Amino acid sequence: MVDQQIAGRGIRDRHVLAAMRKVPRESFVSPEQSAAAYGDHPLPIGQGQTISQPYIVARMIEAARIGPDQRVLEIGAGSGYAAAVIAEIADDVYTVERHQALGASARARLQAAGYNTVHVQIADGTLGWPDAAPYDAIIVAAGAPSVPQALKEQLREGGRLIIPVGTDSCTQTLTRLTRTGPEEWCEERLASVRFVPLIGAQGWT
Ligand code: SAH
Repeated sequence: MVDQQIAGRGIRDRHVLAAMRKVPRESFVSPEQSAAAYGDHPLPIGQGQTISQPYIVARMIEAARIGPDQRVLEIGAGSGYAAAVIAEIADDVYTVERHQALGASARARLQAAGYNTVHVQIADGTLGWPDAAPYDAIIVAAGAPSVPQALKEQLREGGRLIIPVGTDSCTQTLTRLTRTGPEEWCEERLASVRFVPLIGAQGWT
């Protein structure tokens, strides 16, 4: 998977490559999906949601410039897989999931796989996780109509927010916001992507 889909497509970040070689992706999908776990595509995880394609997980983590000694927030825990990859690199990982059943199973899978530095909360992630802020990086794994103000404000100065943004709910532009000052963010457009919708107070209704 890593040689062909990740390194083969130009991901160079050594932390990302090493982390993705380590995390057992089959531990984050149902037993019926385990033969397909390393395929080059997303997979259903229940509740109409998906575990992202491996390349997209790598692309977002590389874009967020995650390294050791960092505190990272993920919105959209889903299966827990991306949080596990991030936890192989960063010291502290916080992840929020709005679906009770998905949040509970992500927590159980992360615990079973030994990822004790990942904290899972079931809540509306468009509001972030203010108690643990500020974050060096925030990764949003669902498509938003616009960038939630709460997430911008929970970034540390120099911190990066990676988020798919688009005004229709099926295609988005993967966007990186870097906080460059107390009231200043710099925005870059990285790629065209397709994510499930981010639903919440500062997302889709
Ligand atoms: N990172 C996940 C991919 C999850 S797909 C993985 O590795 O498996 C996106 C997830 O975002 C879905 O599980 C969906 O329920 C969740 N989501 C959508 N809106 C949300 C919100 N406002 N807060 C938290 N999670 C949300």
